[in-house]
Parts: sequence; structure tokens; C-alpha cells
Amino acid sequence: MGQGLTCKKPKVAIIGAGPAGCMCGITISKDCDVNFFEMAKPLKTLLATGGGRCNLAHAEYDFKELAKYYPRGEKFLYSIFSRFSTQDTLDFFEKIGIRTYAQSDGRIFPVSNSALEIREKMLAQLKNARFIKEKVIDVKKIDEHFYITTENNKYLFDIVVIATGTHLGLQFLKKLPHKVHELKPSLCGLVTKNDFSTLKGVVLNDIIIKYNKIVLEGDMLFTDNGVSGPIIFKLSSINSRVGYPYEIKIKFIPNKIDLEKLLKLNNNRTLKNALSNVLPKSFVKYILNFLKIDETLKINCTTNNTRELLLKSLNSFSVTVISARKGGETVFSGGISLSEIGSNLESKLVENLYFCGEILDIDGFCGGFNLQNCWSTGYLAGCSILETMYGHGFARYKDFS
Ligand SMILES: Cc1cc2nc3c(=O)[nH]c(=O)nc-3n(C[C@H](O)[C@H](O)[C@H](O)COP(=O)(O)OP(=O)(O)OC[C@H]3O[C@@H](n4cnc5c(N)ncnc54)[C@H](O)[C@@H]3O)c2cc1C
Repeated sequence: MGQGLTCKKPKVAIIGAGPAGCMCGITISKDCDVNFFEMAKPLKTLLATGGGRCNLAHAEYDFKELAKYYPRGEKFLYSIFSRFSTQDTLDFFEKIGIRTYAQSDGRIFPVSNSALEIREKMLAQLKNARFIKEKVIDVKKIDEHFYITTENNKYLFDIVVIATGTHLGLQFLKKLPHKVHELKPSLCGLVTKNDFSTLKGVVLNDIIIKYNKIVLEGDMLFTDNGVSGPIIFKLSSINSRVGYPYEIKIKFIPNKIDLEKLLKLNNNRTLKNALSNVLPKSFVKYILNFLKIDETLKINCTTNNTRELLLKSLNSFSVTVISARKGGETVFSGGISLSEIGSNLESKLVENLYFCGEILDIDGFCGGFNLQNCWSTGYLAGCSILETMYGHGFARYKDFS
């Protein structure tokens, strides 16, 4: 850790005023001269989160369990979450005047259901910080100082925190000595070779997807060029680094429905009518058409082969995924390799250089996990800076009041 920062307030540059950068800035704002470089509006990215309601955390209070929701970063987050986890996040927001509630699915929102409220109350904590609306194009360390170059100016700092997220790319990081994992879309829709365009907008509930040993259950939405919805977001996250194309098997019928029994009980009805009891009509039409089965056929007039073909297709339908759906990514996997970052969020290669938030090679599922990463790593990066100055344990800084 850096020495010689104890006499006067150190000049800290935080590049990126998103959730992670702002959390870090709030943590150190009383003790440091905080300067944000933000090319857009501070905390602008927060406004779109949770459909404008901001799903800020998830009601998982065991830090080891919480870390399991991150396909990339799980082990690294053990140590992070053991020091700042879900309850700490809720305490933080309570202290800055934001009450929260958890939905039955575990997602936590502000009582106001307003991302704007969170933005305003966080920015109110940063009233002494300076915001420089410039794009950073280079960060260099020469001797004890960092030289930050923007499109317009050059600046000098003691400490730098990089919290630029991943949505604008990683260009300027390439000049740092850090290993960077290529960005890949995660939490996104998938484009399929199978043509589901006639089903665009149709939702299937409680379907089961199998990919190798992975089994997922949830709701799926058909799109103009493939599939989307919660279960697909999860699959795209798990498989973010898997090369395309890959094949998945879909069980369209929820586990709770016994299809064979359904067909027997509806022996006198047409396949179309019987299946429409448990699946959307448009999907039934699609699958019968796809299998070239006459939809007006009564079940008692179908052959064993036809029924077997239908059961097989509804229970294990092959879908070939050919790419991620462009433009819909909420999160990217990739970023700064965790192997060169200490558990205090400081670079192992460059003293007094810190990283937090999505720029790290950490990404989680939908449900508040990605913002939790920002709050935890942002807070702990701030604590590490304070420890460099004072040498105290981090617990002192849990009090934001
Ligand atoms: C539509 C949408 C909805 C989402 N909803 C949720 C949700 O409900 N819950 C959840 O947990 N997660 C959600 N996420 C993910 C979450 O928003 C991100 O994980 C989080 O914003 C990452 O925060 P960050 O501070 O690391 O980076 P960012 O939020 O990306 O902030 C980085 C900031 O750095 C600035 N910047 C970048 N490069 C430069 C540069 N060179 N110079 C100057 N400034 C720069 C950018 O302008 C930006 O303001 C959502 C994402 C999207 C896109």
C-alpha cells in the first residue's frame, strides 16, 4: 500500500461516476479531495435499472450463497461480500434516506420504486466532489503521480480509481499493464437458427432448458429472431464465454404437467384443443405445423408414432443458438482480470490504482446482483484508500452518517 499520503487530503481521481464510482466517492468524500471524470451525466446508467425502479440488491443474506449468483467472480467475491454484503447495502441506503423492500422473488427495490430518488440521494452525498465532464483517454503513472489525459486536458493525481463499467469499451485500459478479458454479451436475448418469428411476443412459462449438465427452469419469450426472457438471460450469462453455435434442448411442457395423461384424458378432442389447455394456441399451431401433424386430428385417431413424435418434441426440442442478440445486453462478461487485483481492490501491479464495479471481470445474474457488485467493490475500494491514509480497520467506515 502507498506511503506518504497521511499529511494532506490526497487528490483522488475516480474515472466513471456510475454506481461503483459514486459508492467509492461517497466512502472517501470526507477524507479525500474527490474528482470524478465523467463524460456523461453522473449516475445516468442507474436511471434505466430495474425498468426505472432500480433493483438495487437481492434478498440473499448469506455471503457465500450470494457469491454463487456470479458466473464470473464467485471466488473473488467471497472475500468482498464477507466485508460488505446485502445487509450492508440496505443499511447504507437507509442511512442516506432510502427505505427498501424485497419482492417475493427476492429482488430488492427502493420503497419509492424510483431509480431517480437513488441517483439524487447518492449525488447529495457527493456535494463536495468535483465533476469534470471530460472523456479520459489515458492514465499513466510516473514516479508517485498519475497523469490523466482527457480529450481536452492533462491532470495530476495521487490515487486513481477506475470505475468505467464496460458499456463504452475498454480502449484506454489497454495502455495499463493489466490483463483484460475480452468483453462478451451477457444477460441478453439469443438469436437462433430455428425460425420462431411467427411466435414473436409469445411467452412460455416454466419451461426447462438443458445444455450439457446445466438445467434451467423459467419463463421464455419468443422474439423476431430467437428467444429471450428470464431463463434465456440466465443461459446467456452462464454461456457468455461459450463459442457459437451451440445446441440446447427445450422442454416446453412444465414439469407439473403430465402430457401423456393429458392426451389420454382428452382422447375425443383434437390435438390442437387438448394442447391449448396447457400451452398458448399460437405455439400449439407452430409445433403441429412444424411436425406436419394435422391440427384437426382427434387424439384417438392419431398413430402411436405421431403421439411419440409430439411428446418427444415437446419434451426435448433441439434449438441451435447462433449468436447473442445485439443491442439488448444489460451486462458484459469480461474486463480487468481478477488475478491482478487484490482483495482490497487495489492493483497488484500499480500502487494506488484501484478498480471497482463492472469494469472488473465480474458479472452476475439478473436480480440486483450486478449493482450489489458495484456497491460492495465501490465501498471496499474506498475503504482501502482510507486504510492507506489512516491504517484503521475498514469497519470504521461503515458509518456513512
Ligand atoms: C437497461 C439496464 C438495466 C439494468 N438493471 C439492473 C438492475 O435493475 N439491477 C442490477 O443489479 N443491475 C442492473 N443493470 C446492470 C447495472 O446497471 C450495471 O452493472 C452497473 O451500472 C455497472 O456500474 P458501474 O459503475 O460499474 O459502470 P457504469 O454504470 O457503466 O458507469 C460507468 C460510467 O463511466 C463513464 N465512463 C466510461 N468511460 C469513460 C471515460 N473514458 N471517461 C469518462 N467517463 C467514462 C460512463 O459514462 C458511465 O457513466 C442494468 C443494466 C442495464 C443496461
